[in-house]
Amino acid sequence: MQLSVLYKKILPFVKPYKKMVIATLLLTFLGSFAAQVNAVILKYTVDTINNLMVAHEPLSKGFHLIGIISVVLLTKELVNSVVQFGQKFYGEKLRIFITRDISQTIVEKILSYRMEFYTSDENESGKLQTRIDLGISSLTRLVQNFFIDILPLFANAFVALVIMFYANVYVGLVSLCIIPIYFYISQLQATKLSGFRRRMRNYRETKNNGIISLIESITVIKSFVRESTEADRHEKIQYEMTENQLETRKTSFIFESIKSFVEQIGVVIIIILTAYFVLNNQMTIGAIMFHIMLFNNVSSPIRQLHRIYDEVNDALIYSEGFFDILESDKEIETSGNYMPEKISGLIEVKNVDFIYPNGTQALYDINFTVKPNETTALVGLSGAGKSTIINLLDKFYLPSSGQIFLDGVDLVDYNTDFLRKNIGLVLQKNHIFKGTIAENILYGNPEASHPEIIEAAKQAYIHEQVIQLPKGYDSDAHLLSGGQQQRIAIARLFLKNPPIIFLDEPTASLDAIATEQIKKSLDAIKKDRTVIIISHSISQIIDAANIIVLEKGRCVEKGTHDELYDNKGTYHQIFMAMANSLNIEKITQTFD
Ligand code: ADP
Repeated sequence: MQLSVLYKKILPFVKPYKKMVIATLLLTFLGSFAAQVNAVILKYTVDTINNLMVAHEPLSKGFHLIGIISVVLLTKELVNSVVQFGQKFYGEKLRIFITRDISQTIVEKILSYRMEFYTSDENESGKLQTRIDLGISSLTRLVQNFFIDILPLFANAFVALVIMFYANVYVGLVSLCIIPIYFYISQLQATKLSGFRRRMRNYRETKNNGIISLIESITVIKSFVRESTEADRHEKIQYEMTENQLETRKTSFIFESIKSFVEQIGVVIIIILTAYFVLNNQMTIGAIMFHIMLFNNVSSPIRQLHRIYDEVNDALIYSEGFFDILESDKEIETSGNYMPEKISGLIEVKNVDFIYPNGTQALYDINFTVKPNETTALVGLSGAGKSTIINLLDKFYLPSSGQIFLDGVDLVDYNTDFLRKNIGLVLQKNHIFKGTIAENILYGNPEASHPEIIEAAKQAYIHEQVIQLPKGYDSDAHLLSGGQQQRIAIARLFLKNPPIIFLDEPTASLDAIATEQIKKSLDAIKKDRTVIIISHSISQIIDAANIIVLEKGRCVEKGTHDELYDNKGTYHQIFMAMANSLNIEKITQTFD
């Protein structure tokens, strides 16, 4: 990305703070004039003292001079303090505000993206996080460079240069010639150092990951007595890192020395030139200090150029990935406008094929109908495409071909938020957010009152257990067992109260007792709703009014349990395998 493009991209984030930017700029210019006062005063002092001494004036004549210098310097310092405070404070405020806005924008943006965005390889959560973090920090530094650092530096250098030219054209020219040389060396320095810095960052990441994985694998490491191998591995990274660090420092110091040398050449030329003019009576003696100080005002800001150059380069690299995420408008979820008064829950899937973005075809020509207020079970071996169907019904993905109708209207035409508000989803492991039990249930309907939360918990058969806890509904939800958390998820659905419910292996991660315990909650939530359930539990499957059997992405059988059992097809096989795994024979003997 080019710098000008990047500049245009961050401008919208800076625009809301236009006034602050202008205020900072004004202060900056005021500051750059104040910065030259010392040089002017010094010249004035040296010249006046020199004149007094030449004229053999008494000491009392000097008091006038001391008075003027004190007043001017103190006033200048006062102005400078105010300017510096304002400049730093507004600059920092600008940086903080812009960082906040950029972070918020990216979060809002990615929340609006389709499921494809999250499941694609390049957006694995770790990678996404790194790209966002690096993007935000480098952009923030860029804003700092563009609007806070560069301007005062250049303003100072510029004003000093103008004064130098005003004092003497030749002296001004010397400074002007030194600047491009400085620029060139700074650029070389930045290019050399950026490679080192990038390597350093990689080393740091590898080292940090290494330490985390050591801690996570400590049991295995110790049981295989691999402590010394791990220590050696760590030592290798450490050595490479040290090497790189030393190289970085060496390069830095070499360039700093070269720049210092160039600067000194400038100083020497200016001294020689000014001395010549003084001896030639073209200037007063105060001009020597005056010119050296002005030259310093020109060169010291430029000394920092390599840092800015480096950071701008970083920003160019990292912001690319960041803006790729921010501007992925093709990823935004699609939505229709259809929002009926009421949904009755007739689902018709017609000739649906589905291919995941990575090319895996998960569904082939799927056709089935789910009647309102009935429970339909999706049955099939792992990978058959059951969860994919739920993903399509929830509009997380759109079918590659074919259509899905809800109450006779294509899902594509539904307002996506409206649709999801009318669908409840219970997964194998429901996400329990950090927070209290009450907050977690409230996620189903943030407007619900406390009595409504309790009512929902009662319906999900979890209330009795919650009130046994010392803090009741204010207990940390993460302390609950898997089965209890699953019932919290069901209570959440009672609050949401959608007419359609999808249950994707709701008991798969639970042990037998917990499964038994949540059966009542599941039966309660299924009542009077259109339900599609994916389950490996025989009891939940045979309870369903309708069963759809999938095999390798195709719908191979449909019907009731009895019909499909008699069919002696795929369902029969799966059913028998499930029954055998339960060792029904032995169980029956035990009951006898
Ligand atoms: P089931 O729920 O029956 O176990 P899924 O619907 O999860 O099966 O998977 C069906 C097929 O789609 C499998 O081959 C699986 O590997 C593939 N699949 C599932 N999710 C994704 C995804 N996000 N990206 C690519 N392929 C996927």
